[in-house]
Amino acid sequence: MVIKRIREPAERSETCRTAITSGLRSLGRSASAKELSVMVGLSEKEVLDHLAHIRRSSRPKEQSLTVTPAVCKVCGFVFKKRERLTRPTRCPMCKGERIAEPLFSFKMEPKVSDS
Ligand SMILES: [Zn+2]
Repeated sequence: MVIKRIREPAERSETCRTAITSGLRSLGRSASAKELSVMVGLSEKEVLDHLAHIRRSSRPKEQSLTVTPAVCKVCGFVFKKRERLTRPTRCPMCKGERIAEPLFSFKMEPKVSDS
């Protein structure tokens, strides 16, 4: 049996990643996957897939994607070790479900003042 692979054209992914990257850069602050999904017109899941790819493939010197980990709003537990970029549903410490989403940003180049 032949398993059909649904392939996303590489070009399209590239375009999406560029949109996410430049959107995030132009924003100049951290944003959640939800915000980015609205900005680039993709689903939150797609945005997270692209962000995971960007994080894997980005070269430290050029563009490093910074992930601010999710935080439990109840006890303040930080999901530091979490590899997945999605928002955790439940806190392992207090079992609370009020979790702040992880935020994404690009390390900003120090601005050269031109005054
Ligand atoms: Zn908690």
